Amino acid sequence: MSALPCYRWRLAPDGLATRRQLRALGLRPGGQDVAAQLERPRRRRGPLVAYLYRVDRAKPVRPMTPARTAALAAAMRARRTCPTCRTDAGYCIPRSLGMCVTCHDTPKPTEERGEEPAMDMDAYEQRQAELEQMHADYEAIDAAEYAQFNDEMDARDAQRNQH
Ligand SMILES: [Zn+2]
Repeated sequence: MSALPCYRWRLAPDGLATRRQLRALGLRPGGQDVAAQLERPRRRRGPLVAYLYRVDRAKPVRPMTPARTAALAAAMRARRTCPTCRTDAGYCIPRSLGMCVTCHDTPKPTEERGEEPAMDMDAYEQRQAELEQMHADYEAIDAAEYAQFNDEMDARDAQRNQH
């Protein structure tokens, strides 16, 4: 680790950032090694060290895996699908209508014709609630992944600080 370039506090060159700074940019180190370190002198103690990463090698905080992409696409499709005519309206079905605008504006002979009954509002509300729960789950997963990632990085930094 002694081969690392070392900069005085606030004198790091452009293109390098700490984990916190990367996070503020919506980025994470992404498996790259530490590129340099910053040292902030402290009285009667060893300097405070912060590790720097290359911004150009950083990756987005939330990598879109194929599974996540598919799940989000399915969720969005469900939001656009009219519960009455069951077609993709191309826009999110307004909660206030509970159906696509075409269905809302068209008097429905559906029941009279004895066709498949329209999904009722309770079912629609329930599906919306499920979707919201799913989105909340994704947020929780992201938060948990980031917390775990941060713990791992803290452990690695602590290890480096022992040298
Ligand atoms: Zn419709």
